[in-house]
Amino acid sequence: MSDVGGVVLAIDGPSASGKSSTARAVAEALGYFHLDSGALYRGVTLAALRELARRGEKGGDPLSLDPEVMLRSAEDLGLALHPDGVGFAAYLGGEPADIEIRGEQVTSYVSPVSALPVVREWVNARLREMVRAGMNVVVDGRDIGTVVFPDAELKIFLTATPEARARRRLAQRGDDVDEAAVAHEAAVLADRDIRDSSRPVAPLCQATDAKLLDTTGMGFADQVRWIVEQARSIRPKP
Ligand code: C5P
Repeated sequence: MSDVGGVVLAIDGPSASGKSSTARAVAEALGYFHLDSGALYRGVTLAALRELARRGEKGGDPLSLDPEVMLRSAEDLGLALHPDGVGFAAYLGGEPADIEIRGEQVTSYVSPVSALPVVREWVNARLREMVRAGMNVVVDGRDIGTVVFPDAELKIFLTATPEARARRRLAQRGDDVDEAAVAHEAAVLADRDIRDSSRPVAPLCQATDAKLLDTTGMGFADQVRWIVEQARSIRPKP
């Protein structure tokens, strides 16, 4: 059992590698909860954008705010993940925020916001608090196995080529999957990967004890089955 009370299964990997959908399906298969750490970074980014709008600077750059001010806005607006079936739903300002936190505006700012050390500390504290209750969870992110839950019972590093990830992302959005669109989306993803991997604090990288799963050319059901099999070998837990 991990030192946070429950069984922790960490899934890290680059953008659009299918971490969240995979983590959710694995959690469903195992009867665990699914915790998406990116939702908190996205929530802080949205809180910062709301703070700018409140100051009459709608559309401004969240990085113009002091990070402590961003976090205060997140707290004042009650940023929280509330249990919702197998996963958690994001709330901000008392309203469901899952759609807005995954919109284009938040997505374009979330990477630099998540590189701020105080933001990372704040998010990590929330994640550890949520798991301390003794729940069994599948947590997905960039630094779950390396920083947030280094004692996780199982660590998976999920990846695929930028082109494969771009195709999936376009299909998911219902966009045309032609070559030009794939090339553009792959470049956007590669750019976010570089930012996430090169930041000084908690960069995206594979934990030394993580199992690598390259899903290029692999079907969704197969990748879920592979992880569930790995997880079953670490059970039963006391
Ligand atoms: O996973 P998702 O794409 O929703 O994450 C949004 C962004 O939040 C990532 O691009 C990354 O910059 C940041 N993130 C992070 N560490 C995590 C989860 C997300 O830095 N554990």
